[in-house]
Order: sequence, then C-alpha cells, then structure tokens
Amino acid sequence: MNTDIPYKTYLSEDELPKAWYNVRADMKQKPAPLLNPKTLQPCTAAELEQVFCRECVRQELDNDTPYIPIPQPVLDFYKMYRPSPLVRAYFLEKALGTPAKIYYKFEGNNTSGSHKLNSAIAQTYYAKAQGISDITTETGAGQWGTALSMGSAFFGLKCHVYMVKCSYEQKPFRRDVMRTYGADVTPSPSMTTEIGKRINEEHPGTTGSLGCAISEAVERAVTMPNARYLLGSVLNQVCLHQSVIGLETQAALQKLGVKPDVIIGCAGGGSNLAGLIAPFVGEKLRGENDYRIIAVEPASCPSLTRGKYAYDFCDTGRVCPLQKMYTLGAGFIPSASHAGGLRYHGMSAMLSELYAQGLMEARSVEQTKVFEAAVQFARTEGTLPAPESSHAIRVAIDEALRCKAEGKAETIVFGLSGTGYFDMMSYGRFIDGNMSDTIPTDDELNASFAQLPQVNA
Ligand SMILES: *Cc1c(COP(=O)(O)O)cnc(C)c1O
Repeated sequence: MNTDIPYKTYLSEDELPKAWYNVRADMKQKPAPLLNPKTLQPCTAAELEQVFCRECVRQELDNDTPYIPIPQPVLDFYKMYRPSPLVRAYFLEKALGTPAKIYYKFEGNNTSGSHKLNSAIAQTYYAKAQGISDITTETGAGQWGTALSMGSAFFGLKCHVYMVKCSYEQKPFRRDVMRTYGADVTPSPSMTTEIGKRINEEHPGTTGSLGCAISEAVERAVTMPNARYLLGSVLNQVCLHQSVIGLETQAALQKLGVKPDVIIGCAGGGSNLAGLIAPFVGEKLRGENDYRIIAVEPASCPSLTRGKYAYDFCDTGRVCPLQKMYTLGAGFIPSASHAGGLRYHGMSAMLSELYAQGLMEARSVEQTKVFEAAVQFARTEGTLPAPESSHAIRVAIDEALRCKAEGKAETIVFGLSGTGYFDMMSYGRFIDGNMSDTIPTDDELNASFAQLPQVNA
C-alpha cells in the first residue's frame, strides 16, 4: 500500500463545516419553483408552511444565500458520527489492476446506516424549535424512517412513519429499530388514510411505493393538530443539508492535495448525490474547476436516463405540490423484483436542472450488475455496502476499468451512502442466483407519461 496517501482521511471535529452550501446560489438558471397543484402558481411560503416546518420552507425557497449556518444543536449531534471518513480504495484498485485512484466517502457509520441522518437531525431540530409535537414521514428501504426516529428521540418529538409495504414485510429489523427509537410504523398503503384506502381499492395487493407512502404521511400531517411532514430526499432543503458530505470531501481532498476527475453517486431522489457534488458543482458553475459528475440510477427506475423533464406530482395521491423534474410519472411503480432501493419516480429539481444544463451525466445499471459490484467491494474493501450505494460502486468500477483500458491514472471519487446490513434478503437472493433484471418497456413508460399533468410553465 502506498503510504503517501493514507487509507482513511478524517477531518478533526474543529474542521467540521459550520455552514451548509446552497449550490442554487451559484446557478444562473435556478431550479423551477414548486407549483400549487390547484392554482398552478408557484407555492407561497404560507402554503408550504401548512405541511413543512417554517425554517425548512425558508431554506426550500432560498435560491440566493450561498452559505446557511448549521445550528449549534445540529452541529453537536453531527459530532456523534461526523466527520465521516474519506477512504482510498487501495484494495479495490489492486483487485481491478487499474491505474485509477479510487476514493469513497462513507456515510454508513451511524445507526441509521446512511447519509439520511444529516438531514433528519436538521429537520427535527427545526420542528422542535417551532414547537411542533408530531412529525410524519414515509420510508422506503427504512433508512430515512430510522434516521428520523433517531432525530425525533433526540429532540423529543412523536414520529409516525408510513413504510412501503414490501419493505415493511422484508425488513422487520428496520421496523423494530424505528420502534426502539419510539416511532409508530404503519405499512403503506394502509387503511388509516383516505388516500391509502383509495390506492388499496384501485390496486389490490399492491406492495406500495414511495410516492404512495408520501401521500399518506402528508394526509396524516395535515389532519393531525400541531403536526408537520418531513421528507428525506428530493427537496432543496434536504440537498442543502446533505452538502455537509461534499464540504467534508472537498476539505479532505484539499488536505491530501488531490483533485478528482470523476465524481460518482447513486441517485434515488438525489439527495446524497446532490450533497456530495454541491461544492464541486459550485466550482464548475463559478468557472474555477471542471469535473465529470455521474448520477447512477437503477435500470428498473430510470428517471434521468429515460424520464421526461416536466412538471409532475411528487406523490402518487397527487396532493403534494408539482415539481419540475425528470420523472417517470407519479403513477410509476417499479417492479416488485427490484431490490436495490432508489424507487422514487422523480429526481430532485436541482439535479434535474443541472442535468438539463449538461453539467452532469447519468447512467442506469441493472441490479444483478449492481450486486456483483457490491460483493466485489465487500470482499476487497471489507465494508458491506447498501444496494443503493452499490449503484455508485458499479460505475466507479466501470470507470476504473475504462482507465485501465485507456492507461489513464484518473482520480475517481464516489459516495458510499450507506451499509447493507438490513438488505441481506436481497444479497441472499443474489447469491442464490434468484435475482433478475426487470426493465420497464417504452410502452409502460409512455402509458405513465400520458398521465403527466398538463402545465404550461
Ligand atoms: C435513501 C438512500 C439513497 C437514495 O436517496 P437519495 O436521496 O437519492 O440520496 C441512497 N443510498 C442510501 C444508503 C439510502 O439510504
């Protein structure tokens, strides 16, 4: 092992970022505004505050302030599990025989098992500061629900989680981690909301989707006194909080005197990728540096690579605001055989706009190839990766092999957004040879696009 560059680079506690970076401030063409689904006019702060906490709404709508201070109680909580390490993947490089230098930023070293805690703790802090008593949310694979349960326990809030039904059944341990932190967990679609009842009637036996669980959680928040809804991805505010990942990565790379050529992240709703790339995109936008940035998504839920850039509902129940984004249609539900998370039908408005402007590339990968990469990574680097994160590993390996073929010693940085401890059913299926790739047909996607709302904005 080369000893010039350490295997792991940590910042000190003093070097933790004191402010989040808001990349929208440096974008000339801003992400399109959220629209009220009834009036089709941009949502006002007052409208959004009926659903979300006040400070989160302020951050959601702030396209101009580049640095937003991290409140001291949030910084204090961050110290429990941050800074996270930047790791030089020497063992993977050796196994691949590549001249490329591979680094990854590991966000899985906390009980929630992923980067989601970075935003959960901020959002629960703002809810508490506003005097909110109950918060509702949805969770897909379970990481967001766990992160939010942890934040709620820390700040003394009651947390109600709607968990996508197939995950609820496949991941009983996730459910019980959330309950350990005091949350109520309901499988979605449920019979506890009007929207859940309607979806159960229209799609009997459905295994649920994130969009549907969102509708239920929002309905619960607006019908319960002193409650607000918190979302774990997609929104500007979430991408903002996740910038702590990129700021730490940037600082660690500067310490090492290393400049990346390629930066890679998996993208579901887009928050971990948005956070990782934020300061680097800022450098690109200000003309200071250039990087290739690659978003990786599942072939079974390919919003950037096969979706439409259009206004769409953020939820299946069509009650939430409309967002302009790359979308497969709010009614799109990925195949139940898809194991790897990243099941959301749309993509963050900010990332969508960067992609539309050509500032970011996107690639879709099949899940059997993703699990091959996951197993190779686990066996070489030791860490068991989340299936979501393994989408980024897949493309990092592919890029490193390209470097090998071209004889180039490029530097690749990717986001390892979480651990795979709660995904062993999926790993088991892969190892037993029972995993298949289900890719939506053009006809299926066109049928879904036909349901997009007609918006002339
Ligand atoms: C939730 C999650 C993702 C996907 O969400 P983004 O908002 O796209 O980051 C990726 N990796 C892990 C480990 C997750 O828990």
